Amino acid sequence: MSTERDEIAVVGAGLAGCLLACFLARRGYRVALYERRPDPRTGRVERGRSINLALSERGLDALRRIGLDTQVMGDALPMRGRMIHPVAGQPQFQSYSASGDRAINSISRGALNNALLDAATALPGVRIAFDHRLVGLDPATGGMTFETPQGKVTATAPVVLGADGAGSAVRGQLLAHGLLTESLDFLDYGYKELTIPPLGGDFALDPDALHIWPRGTSMMIALPNPDRSFTCTLFWPTHGTAAFASLGSPAAIERHFAEHYPDLVPLAPNLVDDYQHNPVGVLGTVRCTPWQANGTVGLVGDAAHAIVPFYGQGANCAFEDVVELDRCLDESDDDWTVALPLFQRRRQDNVEAIARMALTNFVEMRDKVASPLFQLGRRVEHALERTLPGRYVSRYELVSFSTTPYAEVVRRVRRQHQVLGAVAAGAAALLAGAAGAVLSRGRRR
Ligand SMILES: Cc1cc2nc3c(=O)[nH]c(=O)nc-3n(C[C@H](O)[C@H](O)[C@H](O)COP(=O)(O)OP(=O)(O)OC[C@H]3O[C@@H](n4cnc5c(N)ncnc54)[C@H](O)[C@@H]3O)c2cc1C
Repeated sequence: MSTERDEIAVVGAGLAGCLLACFLARRGYRVALYERRPDPRTGRVERGRSINLALSERGLDALRRIGLDTQVMGDALPMRGRMIHPVAGQPQFQSYSASGDRAINSISRGALNNALLDAATALPGVRIAFDHRLVGLDPATGGMTFETPQGKVTATAPVVLGADGAGSAVRGQLLAHGLLTESLDFLDYGYKELTIPPLGGDFALDPDALHIWPRGTSMMIALPNPDRSFTCTLFWPTHGTAAFASLGSPAAIERHFAEHYPDLVPLAPNLVDDYQHNPVGVLGTVRCTPWQANGTVGLVGDAAHAIVPFYGQGANCAFEDVVELDRCLDESDDDWTVALPLFQRRRQDNVEAIARMALTNFVEMRDKVASPLFQLGRRVEHALERTLPGRYVSRYELVSFSTTPYAEVVRRVRRQHQVLGAVAAGAAALLAGAAGAVLSRGRRR
């Protein structure tokens, strides 16, 4: 493409912001990308902040469209199922797909962000201003104020897009101007990252799986990293007697993990240090409406709709947003006043659907995955998928291995369950009828 267009401002050079800059530059826009942090490619890493993430089909689909999938997947570690760690006994593997060969991919968040930054800066028309924290926005004029190490600076753009994450300053400015309403539902749970280093130069656990330690009211997961370490994320209540703060000394930390995560202890020599020094992150669902004002200020990704991480879909969903916004611009001949409202109409039900599925999946991961009934259910599901290929597809497959809109996933799974329920009821009635006939024959004899 394309003719040169106005300079669009994208606030936030995280995952969604960088991808959005790439898509906009492909459309011929000049893009100014403003990021509050310094350039992450210079090497400074924040301690204990979600080091890796699970990338699945929706995210890959977006990366494919800008030719970045092969590079990103170069370092990916495919995880074909869950490895469930009981308190006592051997871990058990549960495949994600009926065929056993479909995988979600553990990738480094930093490497993905850097690859996207490189891709954005390589495109003509994209410039990135690091160390620029948005602190003011006039939605009527597109006037922005940033705090920088040199003091305050201002800039103006005809269209300002907020890709500045769950705590979005752009959303905050729209709220302050009375242009949107928001609701923030924080979980009573937080998360803390811990590390399992390589053991004798190799992975200390099976790298083909996402590891889960389900413990009812708490849970830990671990994803493999390319350097053969694992990053564990411990999810635990933030308040109460069984909560992060309840482990106040190295001895208490060691005792707790020895009791609840005994197989982790010998693999995590820095457990106490990690526990004491890594921050507790907050978890929650952000909802707001509208996602745009005047057709000139818009929100994408977590800024519009942050979700809890239990389906591994937040970034995947943010990437899908970018693909949909690009489609809306196509369909509206780049009329932002049409494209931005259309984008919200197309996405809002879908992000609400994944927000709810992510919350439900927390209960499944921390509580149900270890139960024999749940495991039987998964085996039945996989058997159905093999018997009725393409006609019965599990929720997990539809969410993680397809781009079926999230709201359609919910509707389809409901339909499948209704049909199965009817078949099971019919079979039960037939069996009951047959049993009744046999019994009454027996009585007549
Ligand atoms: C523990 C945890 C695990 C997760 N695991 C997964 C997973 O496995 N798979 C998955 O798909 N998703 C996962 N997610 C969700 C995923 O991290 C987010 O959905 C994703 O990062 C959203 O991307 P974003 O670009 O919208 O926001 P962010 O990645 O938060 O990027 C926002 C950017 O804006 C910048 N910024 C913020 N404020 C300002 C400002 N005022 N001015 C300028 N710049 C600003 C920030 O510095 C940042 O660079 C997880 C989240 C958590 C918390």
